[in-house]
Amino acid sequence: MTELNFERPERRLGAADWPERRLIAANWKMHLVTAEARAFCEGLRAEIAADAPQVAIFPSFPLLPCVVGALEGSGIAVGGQDVHPSDKGAHTGDVSAPQLADVGATWVLCGHSERRRDHNEGDDLVGRKAQTATRHGLVPLICVGETRDERRGGLTEEVLSRQLSAAITPLLGGASELPFGPSGRFAIAYEPVWAIGTGEVATPEIASSAHVFLRNRLVDRLGTATAASIPLLYGGSVAPDNARELAEAPEVDGFLVGGASLDLGKFLTIIHSFRG
Ligand code: 13P
Repeated sequence: MTELNFERPERRLGAADWPERRLIAANWKMHLVTAEARAFCEGLRAEIAADAPQVAIFPSFPLLPCVVGALEGSGIAVGGQDVHPSDKGAHTGDVSAPQLADVGATWVLCGHSERRRDHNEGDDLVGRKAQTATRHGLVPLICVGETRDERRGGLTEEVLSRQLSAAITPLLGGASELPFGPSGRFAIAYEPVWAIGTGEVATPEIASSAHVFLRNRLVDRLGTATAASIPLLYGGSVAPDNARELAEAPEVDGFLVGGASLDLGKFLTIIHSFRG
């Protein structure tokens, strides 16, 4: 593995200073049907600790009304797995930001590597999706990450820089500050493609290096205070047996969990690894 070169942020932006940065997200991908989703949500509500960090569930589109209803009043957020950059139109099979907001979603994934791979989504499109999402009051969780070949080729920093910049430039709209204030109205998930669904989790050192690199790019772009308010999640083979170690890695504010988020017991263990 090629190690990243990075400079430390100007000040240590520890998650303890910014508890609102902590977020554990479940990406259910194309799994579960209504009855399974409802049972999961009822169990989650019943068993989640009172001092757990913020949690968000990203089910596939048909499950959104059920999940929103089952989690109503729980404080657990719900988001879509994708969004079209246009508000409406002739786009068969796509879902718009107003439609997501209408069913009670408050977050949306933008640029997941499976969308980039399966649907040829490029950096520019991901940026437009994130921009549309924020215009409709949805918080984009923007996914970035290098492939195995890119890491082997020493291109990790270049890829992360390019993907991050393409996603946040439309949000800035030419301004040097986010138009919606320093309250963290988007989040980033570092998801190295080689770690997704492979069981080959990034070491805490690799995850932390990438997160520090991304945080520094955010500081360059948005200034320290705004950069410090943005959750930086790690995703890729997060599991109960690696969550605590990863949770302690510098600049890792939370997780975007795939496979292990389909098992309530595993997901609760992962959520609770961020306590205390
Ligand atoms: P896994 O946790 O299954 O590796 O998936 C990660 C992911 O893609 C989350 O978005």
